[in-house]
Amino acid sequence: MPKTLQTTLVSDAHHSGLRFAKRTYFPRIIGLGMGTICVASVIITHQTHPIVWLLLFFNGFIWPHIAYIMATRAGHPFRTEIRNLQIDAIFGGVWLALMGFNALPSAVIISMMGMNNIAAGGKALFFKCIIAQAVVALTVFLLADITFQPETTPLQLYLCLPMIVIYPIFLGNVTFRTSRKLAEHKQAIMQISVRDGLTGLYNRRHWESLLENEIESHRRYHHKTTLVLIDIDHFKEINDNYGHNVGDQAIILLAQELQQTMRAADIIGRYGGDEFAAILPHSTAEQAQKALERLQSRLDNDLFPYHPELRVQISAGIAECRKDQESAAQWLNAADTALYKAKNGGRNRIEARV
Ligand code: GH3
Ligand code: MG
Repeated sequence: MPKTLQTTLVSDAHHSGLRFAKRTYFPRIIGLGMGTICVASVIITHQTHPIVWLLLFFNGFIWPHIAYIMATRAGHPFRTEIRNLQIDAIFGGVWLALMGFNALPSAVIISMMGMNNIAAGGKALFFKCIIAQAVVALTVFLLADITFQPETTPLQLYLCLPMIVIYPIFLGNVTFRTSRKLAEHKQAIMQISVRDGLTGLYNRRHWESLLENEIESHRRYHHKTTLVLIDIDHFKEINDNYGHNVGDQAIILLAQELQQTMRAADIIGRYGGDEFAAILPHSTAEQAQKALERLQSRLDNDLFPYHPELRVQISAGIAECRKDQESAAQWLNAADTALYKAKNGGRNRIEARV
């Protein structure tokens, strides 16, 4: 793999890891903060060593920030964040045991952490964490010789309610925002894959797939449909005399004028450097000719800043689709031959196939 591509991929992975750490930060603050209330409501009823209280305070209110700092400063933020989620699960296991498996707070911790882990890392992370949590919970329970006390008092139930009600709503909102961002990224990638970067018109690959669709539709419904190929005249001279930037402006101008001149249903693409292609469904060759003449006169009136003498002139070839079931390649070839004729005939002309 080329070094620059490898560096880009590593940096992309780093950024997505950082985003993951940021997404987990607030749910962890909220979840562990409210979870601390659930645990405190139980261990306050036992003889609890001050160290345990300190550990609970640390886990509930300090650990979320340490976890965030560790993940955002790590070489691999994603891996560190996954490890942080596993540490959350281990802490969770300690609290399950120290609560003597009090039913409701234990169920709340297991389900909320499980929901968080499955949302963050799928089934694999979920099972890894739940197993680690169970092992830690049983070990602490047996080593510390804690009494099994599953009964939940009404007060403990009330103190668990904020966690039960608020945390799923909060996590649901985070998940919604993440999936909406993903949908937006998908949409942007779709746009990039079908559009030409300079003009925003369809790129050649996508335009050709739309041409195939139009042929299919023509075979089925036998409607009139016309193809035009357009090429800027002496474009190399524009580049040579005015520079590549002005050349680019000329391409953009033609793209904009094409969009203004054609109908909304017409399918316009950038076919190559200074070559454009358009499919005009439900149009005859004569209608296409009129549209192209309108395009030419609009271009005649377009002025370039600092270069008032410069005009963009075009040649165009028109081919109406034949009823004899021609292929996309044959149809394109016919328009290309007409374009060639327009170029050979002196340029700044429109020719249709005969
Ligand atoms: P003709 O009248 O026969 O079409 O002559 P021409 O000079 O326009 O020749 P041609 O169509 O072959 O020229 C295409 C040129 O377009 C060659 C290439 O350097 C230039 N070109 C291709 N893509 C771009 C682009 O994105 N921007 C700019 N500025 N120039 C481009
Ligand atoms: Mg040209």
